[in-house]
Amino acid sequence: MAVWTESEGKRVHDPLYHNIVPSKPDKCIVVDDPVIIGAGPSGLAVAACLKEKGIPSLILERSNCIASLWQLKTYDRLHLHLPKKFCELPLMPYPPGFPTYPTKQQFIAYLEAYAKQYDIKPVFNQTVVSAEYEDGTWRVRTEEGREYLCRWLVVATGENAEAVLPEIEGLERYKGTVVHTSAYRSGDMYQGKKVLVVGGGNSGMEVSLDLCNHGAMPSIVVREAVHILPREMFWSSTFGLSMWLLKWLPMQTVDQFLLLMARFMLGDTSQFGLERPHFGPMELKSVSGKTPVLDVGTLEKIKSGDIKIFPAIKSFTNHGAEFIDGRMEEFDAVVLATGYRSNVPSWLKDTELFSEKDGYPRRPFPNGWKGRQGLYSVGFTKRGLLGASMDATRIAHDIAQCWQDMTKQLNHHLYKPST
Ligand SMILES: Cc1cc2nc3c(=O)[nH]c(=O)nc-3n(C[C@H](O)[C@H](O)[C@H](O)COP(=O)(O)OP(=O)(O)OC[C@H]3O[C@@H](n4cnc5c(N)ncnc54)[C@H](O)[C@@H]3O)c2cc1C
Repeated sequence: MAVWTESEGKRVHDPLYHNIVPSKPDKCIVVDDPVIIGAGPSGLAVAACLKEKGIPSLILERSNCIASLWQLKTYDRLHLHLPKKFCELPLMPYPPGFPTYPTKQQFIAYLEAYAKQYDIKPVFNQTVVSAEYEDGTWRVRTEEGREYLCRWLVVATGENAEAVLPEIEGLERYKGTVVHTSAYRSGDMYQGKKVLVVGGGNSGMEVSLDLCNHGAMPSIVVREAVHILPREMFWSSTFGLSMWLLKWLPMQTVDQFLLLMARFMLGDTSQFGLERPHFGPMELKSVSGKTPVLDVGTLEKIKSGDIKIFPAIKSFTNHGAEFIDGRMEEFDAVVLATGYRSNVPSWLKDTELFSEKDGYPRRPFPNGWKGRQGLYSVGFTKRGLLGASMDATRIAHDIAQCWQDMTKQLNHHLYKPST
């Protein structure tokens, strides 16, 4: 059972905490359990794994719901990009009857059921603005004016915490509407409109397809070379097949196979302005974290000319854009499919586990989950939900060991015979 002590401005005495003086006494809450920041799939997974070991935890979440990325910031037609067996959280399989690629609504329902199963009740509307280690304790402050003191701090704020809004020359003078994909829901309102989608990753490709299906005329800006692979090969998911092949074959051989199959099934993508990178898809993922695009039908629309491809933007004009190849075109709207970034450097006052540069753990997977002084990281592996589940299991195991040691120490303190 969690013991939360409202300190009411008093010095907190605890044999295991040192003497702590809360900096904002009226709002200070001492938490004996691990504190997890972020109620996305990663935070839920850690809470569930801890619960299973009999350890309660407290989740702080800035929004008003679990899985806010999925509930509030994704488009309606979204399905899991990867097959469900690679997207399961620890301890709970998907319900029978779920399709291989669950819809966004099904995935959210799964997460809601997960939270219910493990009785996870995050504290919502708490945006963490700083967390620092002082006198043996983590001090976690929220924008809403609370301060939480704890021994274990799990960072689960995600690789997609903040939208990346690129600085493109002239964007401020462009008169059409501009939205980031986090604010895009469906192509409904774009019917008959010319829309420029900036970014040729999985989201940019899928949003363009959605626009096309809603009667819009999308164009995609693809600045860099990109690997497009069919989502399925040989009646199996390309991702699953690649994972299986990597068990037996070197990465370069798997890449050669994938590229051969992609050429056979999709044709030469460079014909349509989609050059392939120098590294193969798996190698590129491992060196840069860049995910190949798994095609869900966009390429057909590109081939048919329903979706146009443009190179990088030179500058925006009042009603459109000029591209680096000299072409100029007018657009009614712009959708920025320019990705997301971690926000950890903006609030975590510790630079040993996380890099200040990109907000990812300094040590690459699988060694980036644990820092010093009870600090952990979950879900920053560039390996989606599979990586998050692996982190969560390790973290819960590690905390459980400390928990047992501390319980022994505490019992010793409480029951020490007086001398
Ligand atoms: C369009 C899209 C499709 C994807 N498809 C897949 C897929 O098919 N398979 C897959 O494995 N992965 C997929 N991913 C990656 C996906 O984001 C992750 O797998 C998953 O959401 C990561 O969970 P998370 O809990 O680590 O992060 P998030 O889901 O981002 O959750 C982090 C939580 O932390 C909260 N938070 C952030 N900062 C603070 C703060 N300062 N204080 C308090 N709370 C904070 C956020 O509000 C959020 O609720 C996809 C991503 C996108 C964008």
